[in-house]
Amino acid sequence: MSSTDDYTRRYQGALMNTFGTPKSVLTRGHGAHVWDEDGSEYVDLLGGIAVNALGHGHPAVVEAVTTQLQTLGHISNFFASEPQIELAEKLLSIAGADGKVFFANSGTEANEAAFKLTRRTGRTHLVAMTGSFHGRTMGSLALTSKEAYRTPFEPLPGDVTFVPYGDADALAAAVTDETAAIVIEPIQGEAGVVVPPEGFLTAARRIADEHGALLWFDEIQSGMGRTGRWLASQAEGVTPDIVTLAKGLGGGFPIGACLGLGRAASLFEPGNHGTTFGGNPVACAAALAVIRTIEEDGLLEHVTVLGHKLRDGLAADPRVAEVAGEGLFVGIVLTEQKAAEVAAAALKAGFIVNNATTGRVRLAPPLVLTADDAEAFLAAWPRILDEAWS
Ligand SMILES: *Cc1c(COP(=O)(O)O)cnc(C)c1O
Repeated sequence: MSSTDDYTRRYQGALMNTFGTPKSVLTRGHGAHVWDEDGSEYVDLLGGIAVNALGHGHPAVVEAVTTQLQTLGHISNFFASEPQIELAEKLLSIAGADGKVFFANSGTEANEAAFKLTRRTGRTHLVAMTGSFHGRTMGSLALTSKEAYRTPFEPLPGDVTFVPYGDADALAAAVTDETAAIVIEPIQGEAGVVVPPEGFLTAARRIADEHGALLWFDEIQSGMGRTGRWLASQAEGVTPDIVTLAKGLGGGFPIGACLGLGRAASLFEPGNHGTTFGGNPVACAAALAVIRTIEEDGLLEHVTVLGHKLRDGLAADPRVAEVAGEGLFVGIVLTEQKAAEVAAAALKAGFIVNNATTGRVRLAPPLVLTADDAEAFLAAWPRILDEAWS
């Protein structure tokens, strides 16, 4: 029996079956590369689902986490720590607006905080988008459109209207003076990297203002430099009232954040919300290291330049109908429903990609992906498609 069979048996015996059986057991990572237990090497073009912003084992993150853990690992929110305050200040400066931050440990928790924040307007109606993904806890699930995720857990927290993603007229028709907030992913991630028509976010801002509703951008997947900007919504220059962040924020260390900007900053009062782990100094130190490295190494520029090259190269094959996305947030629309076959062929060729839907392949590699790794993938791309089509 190979050790893979052994791991599979142990995994199935001990882990709840929520994810199906994993493809393989990874043992090591370095930069954008990972190795499995058989010693096979892969270029990680999914980055732990848009999480490993600086790749694996980045010295800045390792150093920040190690130093902080040796100094002060966990305190409660009865006390403050320097990394927590500094990170909050940094995130607000990234968002480019006055506001306040609530720290959590994951994306769905950041969204739960935001969901509760919207209730403090005194209104309960929320407008969300078809194709949306906001997380798996009950509140976030209520805002997630996919029926397969929702149905087994109904009834979910109510008063949510879904409108077609990118349809400003439908949005205008759905929002009323009773609407607490509009929640939008500026680029939809789990849907396979779907970009809305230009002007949609601007229209959402106007519609929210007309009705006194909050505009909430879920940038958990699209934020923190993934698109070549700190926030994907900055491409349209729209400032929301709420931004939620997680995934890339901690560079692999679990952390989430809910930013309340303008009037949303002060909707919570003492006792309204809380967390034991959220904002702990180690997670905040990791996130600060990520932000500093993105700044010091010019990674936003790198992501923009390399993203263009990667997307243009991928689009050159006739089996690709469209390459959507910005920066290193890439959705490859295939001419046939072969995304699963493409993901399998890519893995065989040494590249980790994701079949987000049956017809869309998603890439969200580390922001430190090298030009060499991108070129290696482009060189292998026609062969990967040959195999998927065979
Ligand atoms: C991944 C994701 C979430 C949920 O984050 P978790 O950390 O898995 O809870 C929420 N919103 C978006 C847009 C995401 O991509």
